Amino acid sequence: MSIDDLAALVRTIPDFPKPGIEFRDITTLLADPAGFSELIRRLADIARPLDADLVAGIEARGFILGAALAQALGLGFVPIRKAGKLPGKKVGIDYVLEYGTDRLEMHEGQVKQGARVLLVDDLIATGGTALAAAQLLREQAATVLLALFAIDLPDLGGRSALEADGIATAALLE
Ligand code: 5GP
Repeated sequence: MSIDDLAALVRTIPDFPKPGIEFRDITTLLADPAGFSELIRRLADIARPLDADLVAGIEARGFILGAALAQALGLGFVPIRKAGKLPGKKVGIDYVLEYGTDRLEMHEGQVKQGARVLLVDDLIATGGTALAAAQLLREQAATVLLALFAIDLPDLGGRSALEADGIATAALLE
């Protein structure tokens, strides 16, 4: 399947979640068996040479792609969740949004000191979410080998922001 065929499986929904926003919806891609497997195959081809120790995925669509990618690579998966969802002892980070703040958390001890981590989400826009997740991983003394996304919205500058912070990035679709 070509990259254009893959891109064609992503649906654009106007005015979601707010008027004026064009939401890139990957559920149409996930529902397509050939498309989903091609997406994971391509992400795995990028990630495999890095020889990571684990995959960390950002809630919620980063769980879907990250877990499938972890399986493809034979690695474990660690969820990075929105505040208040994880049951065990947690570590977390607060970060600033356009309006207000938000918080990401993960279970303490699941990312060991020195772990080589692949950070995964479905899409990078401004990069605020991925930067916070990467910072949280670094605070556990882990190395973020790569922040990997299915989709980049290049006009919003997220990948540049991560790269400026010393985090390598890759995305399949723009
Ligand atoms: P950022 O923090 O880079 O501005 O926003 C990225 C986060 O918001 C990701 O967790 C991503 O899932 C979500 N997000 C923002 N816009 C979209 C969109 O158009 N489509 C999808 N699927 N997710 C989005």
